[in-house]
Amino acid sequence: MSKVRVRFAPSPTGYLHVGGARTALYNYLFAKKNGGDFILRIEDTDEARSTQESLRGVVDDMVWLNLMWKEGVDPVTLKDMGPLGPYKQSERQHIYKDVADKLLAAGKAYYCFLTDEEIEKQREEAMKAGRNPQINSPYQDWTLKQAEEKLAAGGKGVVRFKTRELKKDYIFTDLVRGEVKFPSDMVGDFVLLRSGGMPVYNFCCVIDDHMMEMSHVFRAEEHLPNTLRQLMIYEAMGWKAPQFGHISLILDEDRQKLSKRKGAVACGQLKDEGYLPSAVLNYISLLGWSHPEGKEIFSVDDMTQVFDISRLNASGAVFDRVKFKWMNAMHLRALPNAEIWKLIQPFLAREKMELPQDPVWQDKSITVFKSYMEILADAIELYRPLNDKSFAIQPDADEALAWESTKAVLNGWKELVQASGKDYLSEEEFLKLQDEVKNKTGAKGKHLFMPIRVAVIGKPHGAELKNIVPLIKTSSLVDRANKVLAKIG
Ligand code: GLU
Repeated sequence: MSKVRVRFAPSPTGYLHVGGARTALYNYLFAKKNGGDFILRIEDTDEARSTQESLRGVVDDMVWLNLMWKEGVDPVTLKDMGPLGPYKQSERQHIYKDVADKLLAAGKAYYCFLTDEEIEKQREEAMKAGRNPQINSPYQDWTLKQAEEKLAAGGKGVVRFKTRELKKDYIFTDLVRGEVKFPSDMVGDFVLLRSGGMPVYNFCCVIDDHMMEMSHVFRAEEHLPNTLRQLMIYEAMGWKAPQFGHISLILDEDRQKLSKRKGAVACGQLKDEGYLPSAVLNYISLLGWSHPEGKEIFSVDDMTQVFDISRLNASGAVFDRVKFKWMNAMHLRALPNAEIWKLIQPFLAREKMELPQDPVWQDKSITVFKSYMEILADAIELYRPLNDKSFAIQPDADEALAWESTKAVLNGWKELVQASGKDYLSEEEFLKLQDEVKNKTGAKGKHLFMPIRVAVIGKPHGAELKNIVPLIKTSSLVDRANKVLAKIG
C-alpha cells in the first residue's frame, strides 16, 4: 500500500464547527494510526465568501484542539508549508487551468456558451415533457478550434465536463458505507471552470487530492453525491482515485441537522465557555465511531492507539449537550488542581475578580469547587462569593433581615468570628461556631442559617457555607457582617 496521506480541507467561509472538527479528527487519527501524513488544505476558491479572518479562526481552533498537520498552511504565518503546495486553492488557479486544457484537448470537456436564460428554458421544457432536466448543450459537438474562435471574438463560456459517452455505473467501496453505486446519468455535463476561469469545488478537489497524493479521503456525508463527478474526472485524467469514506451526519436531539440555535457548535464558542480540547475531542470522536472496549472517557493518545475505521458508523449521531458537558466535567476533574487553577484564570479575569495569590488557598479552593464545575466558566459563579468586591446584599435577603432574632444572630456570628483569632476558619471550626451562635441566641433552622448566609454571601440561598466560609478571610467575614448589621440598623 502506498503511504497513507489524508487531509482536512476546510473552506474558510465561517468558523470551525464540531462537524468539521470531527472530520479533521478522524483524518488525523487515521494518519497517526497508520504512520501517515495529515495535511491541511484550504479550499478558498469562493472569493466572495472566503476571508482571512475565517482562515485564522479555523487554524487557531485546530491548534487549540491540537490536531496538528504536517503540510498545509503554517499555523502561525498562514504561509505555505510543505513540498506539494501551494496548499491554498486560490493560489493554484494555473494548475486547474492546465488540467482543464488537457481535458479540452482530449475532447473530454468542452466550452459551453449557453446563456442562463437558455439553460433555464431547457430545464423548463424538460420538466414539462417529464424528462431529466439535465443540460443538453449543442456546444458539446463543437471542435476546440471553433470554441476558441468564439472566445477570441469575445464569447463567454464555461468549461463543462462531457458525460454523454460515460454510459455506465460508477461503483466504489465507501469505507464507511460499503458499496455505493451511481449511474453516470445521475449527473449531466457539469461545470469545471466558470466563465471567469474560476474552478468549481469538484474539479479543484480531484486535482489537489491527486497532486497532493492523498491515499484516503474521509469527509462529510453531504459530499457523497460529489464523489460521482469526482470519479469521472479521475477516470478522464487516468488518475487513481483515493479511497473514500463518508462520515455520518451529526444531528440535534430532535434528529434534525445540528444547528447553533440549540447551543454552541462552533469550536471557538466551546473554548469561550470553557470546554477542554481533550473533552471536545473525546466527545466528538464518539459521534460516529466507538471505542473497541466500549470506553467512554479517554484521551487522544488512547484514541490514536485504537482508532479503526471499521468502527465508523454510517448512521447519524446525536449531539447530546448534557452528555457532552458531563464528559467535560470528567476531563476537568481528572486534572491536577494547579492546572485547573491556571485554566480558570481567563474566566475570573473577565469578571475582574481579585482573589488571594497564595497557592495553598488556591489549591484548597479548587479542591472544594472542582466537583461543582462542569465547564471552566462555572468557576465564575463559584468564585464570585469569595471576591470581597462582589459582596452586596440582595433584595431577597430582606425577609430574613426583618426577623426579630436576626440581629442577635449576626452579632453573635460576628463576635465569635472575631474572637476565633484565626485568619481562616476550617470547616469544623465554622460548624462549631455556628452551633455556638445557636446556643447563644436560641435561633435555629432557617432563622439561624439564613442570616448567616446573608452575612457571608449577601443572599439567603445558594452556596454551601461550609465550603465557602473556609475560603474567606475572617476579617472579610467581619466586614461583611458589619455591612449587613448597618443595613438593619
Ligand atoms: N471544502 C469542502 C468542505 O468544507 C471539503 C470537502 C472535501 O473534503 O472534499 O466541505
